[in-house]
Amino acid sequence: MFLENYIRDIQGFPKEGILFKDITPLLIDPKGTQECLKTLVSTLKNLNIDKVIGVESRGFFFGTLIAQELNVGFVPVRKPKKLPYETIFATYDIEYGTDTLEIHIDAIKKGDRILIHDDVLATGGTIKAVCELVERLGGEVMQCNFIMELSFLNGREKIKDKPIFAAITY
Ligand code: 5GP
Repeated sequence: MFLENYIRDIQGFPKEGILFKDITPLLIDPKGTQECLKTLVSTLKNLNIDKVIGVESRGFFFGTLIAQELNVGFVPVRKPKKLPYETIFATYDIEYGTDTLEIHIDAIKKGDRILIHDDVLATGGTIKAVCELVERLGGEVMQCNFIMELSFLNGREKIKDKPIFAAITY
């Protein structure tokens, strides 16, 4: 089965006018999950990734799986006040207002080769903020990968200088 077939469209979530791409049918199916994981990892062979970053919260699912597959560490980037140790933060614009993401200051060492994973690339605000956090700690973003890219929202424009891979493109 094509990966697209595991994604469910939910009209009007989380609010009216939004067509939400639901990944839970993919997660509930081990075959689909395995297929998606294989696709995401297939592009990473020669990148010598040191750590995988997963973005709260849907980036945690495949982020940890990819890290295991590559036999490297996993680092969570989280919403404010969730991480217990010392953090740095980045703030970015959303439709109404701003959002903030945090990372532990000791999670990345200078020169670490980093893969950032999230479930969806939409307008690109989230991933841009995560790239900024990684680079402030001295990491090098080798690739940003996603289960899917909503290409009509032009998110990749915000991270033009970074390699991007999406298993599914809409
Ligand atoms: P962006 O900052 O690129 O506009 O939004 C990306 C973030 O919003 C991701 O962390 C992603 O989890 C979430 N997101 C936005 N739209 C969708 C969607 O249709 N489906 C899912 N699963 N997540 C979405």
